[in-house]
Amino acid sequence: QAKAAGRNTACFFDPEMQAVAAIQADLEKSLHDALTRESFFLEYQMQLDGAGRIVGVEALLRWQHPTLGKVLPEVFIPMAEETGAIVLLGQWVLKQACQQLSVWAQYPQSATWILAVNVSGLQVAHPNFVDMVTAVLRETGANPVLLRMELTESTLQKDVEEVIDKMNELSALGVSFSLDHFGSGYSSLLYLKRLPLSQLKIDSSFVRGLHLDPSDATIAQAVISLGHGFGLSVIAEGVECVEQRDMLASMGCNTFQGHLFGHPMPAAQLIQYVEG
Ligand code: C2E
Ligand code: MG
Ligand code: MG
Repeated sequence: QAKAAGRNTACFFDPEMQAVAAIQADLEKSLHDALTRESFFLEYQMQLDGAGRIVGVEALLRWQHPTLGKVLPEVFIPMAEETGAIVLLGQWVLKQACQQLSVWAQYPQSATWILAVNVSGLQVAHPNFVDMVTAVLRETGANPVLLRMELTESTLQKDVEEVIDKMNELSALGVSFSLDHFGSGYSSLLYLKRLPLSQLKIDSSFVRGLHLDPSDATIAQAVISLGHGFGLSVIAEGVECVEQRDMLASMGCNTFQGHLFGHPMPAAQLIQYVEG
């Protein structure tokens, strides 16, 4: 009983909770500062085909907080979404990523890499979304054909017709779309039928137990077949061991991403790795 009470009291002073509160307060008041101080940065994680060639790279946002250190997106993205800060932050991400893309385009070993950028539903819902993306592509000189946006099912909780219209406009420029965390949310099948997608991303929760749990294997196989049935390529994320990779490959999975191949890392390090 004392333990339970203690736990309740402790909750109030939980350093993690305090950190979260501090981040929230900080994010709200200092996003602009944080952006200009360059305390946000991107890491890049390679995506490989069945032959082990890098075919794409996913940009992942990090926040180097002055006192808390490296804060992961699972903590601050939901907050940025709650406060609406994600619109500005997402624009910054896209710009950074597209600048990187146009640099990579100049080198033979990286010229064909597709750059995947995570895009929040609130960004897509913003009235200027298509204009913003068009402007960023123009300013950075990035090739739209090499830009892929990773959307989640939560993107689509809003006005689906409007989202589809915007996706079609960007598709016309050459931008492609992937459905991230596939299978972990709701209504996935309806979206498959209606959205102009080019890729499905098997959620890492199904990849994790793939080689141990037959039901994860069943789901992975079903997602791959479903994706291929719709003419989409399928990528698995969170691939950590050879068994997972081999099983996915034998199921027909097209592309692989995870710690087995490489962690997310700064662009300079990725190039070193490739040249190494
Ligand atoms: P996500 O898009 O599914 O990104 C993949 C996440 O899996 C990344 O976490 C990555 O570091 C992690 N990961 C990669 N390989 C492995 C592996 O082998 N094992 C395990 N256990 N994990 C692996 P991260 O970077 O913490 O990002 C978390 C989520 O935050 C992302 O999930 C994405 O939904 C969101 N996010 C990241 N950057 C952005 C961004 O710029 N904008 C928006 N809206 N969301 C972002
Ligand atoms: Mg993603
Ligand atoms: Mg994902």
